[in-house]
Amino acid sequence: MVARDRSIENLIERLNRLPGIGPKTAERLAFHLLRIERAEALALSKAIEDVRAAVKTCSVCFNLDAQDPCGVCSDDSRDRTMLLVLEDPRELARFEDVGYRGLYHVLQGRMSQLENIGPDDLTIAPLLLRVKQAPPAEICLATNPDLEGEGTARVLAERLQPLGIKVTRLARGLPAGSSIAQVSSSILADAIEGRRTLS
Ligand SMILES: [Zn+2]
Repeated sequence: MVARDRSIENLIERLNRLPGIGPKTAERLAFHLLRIERAEALALSKAIEDVRAAVKTCSVCFNLDAQDPCGVCSDDSRDRTMLLVLEDPRELARFEDVGYRGLYHVLQGRMSQLENIGPDDLTIAPLLLRVKQAPPAEICLATNPDLEGEGTARVLAERLQPLGIKVTRLARGLPAGSSIAQVSSSILADAIEGRRTLS
C-alpha cells in the first residue's frame, strides 16, 4: 500500500479535531477539498484567517466581537446592575433579540464529567474577580436547563452567594433538557421575566 502524503494526513488529523467530525468524515472532507477548485479550497482557509483576525474575545465578558471590550461592555446605556451568565456566545444574540439590556458573562462552555470539563476550564475565576471589583445587584444564571447546565449553575451559585449578591436562575418555564439556542423567543422572554432567586 502506498503511503498517503503527509500533508493529507495532517489535514485529516486537523479536521478530526473539530467537534462532531469523526475520522471517516475528516477523511471525506479532506479528499473533497482536494477534488474541488483550488480557489474554492483556498477561500476556506482565507475565511478562517479573516475571522480569526477580525473577531476578538472580550477581556471583560468573553463575548466575541470586532472590538475588545465588546460592544455590550463598552455601551454606557446598558443596565450595569444586571449580569446574565451564559454558556456560549451564540446564546447572547438570543437574549438581545428578546430585549435584554443588562450585561453578560460568557462561561465558554459548561461543566461536564463525561467530557472532563471542570470549573477551571470555564471563565469562572474571571467572573468572580469581575463581580468582586464591580458587584452587580443581580446575577442571573442562564446556563441551559439540562443536566450539565443545572450542575454548572449549582456550582456557580455556591461560589457567588457568599459574595452577598442576589443570584437568580431563569424561570422553570424552559422545558427541561431544552436548549436556550432552540426555545422560542416568547418562552425565553418569559424565562427572564419570571426568573427565580436561588437560595
Ligand atoms: Zn464584553
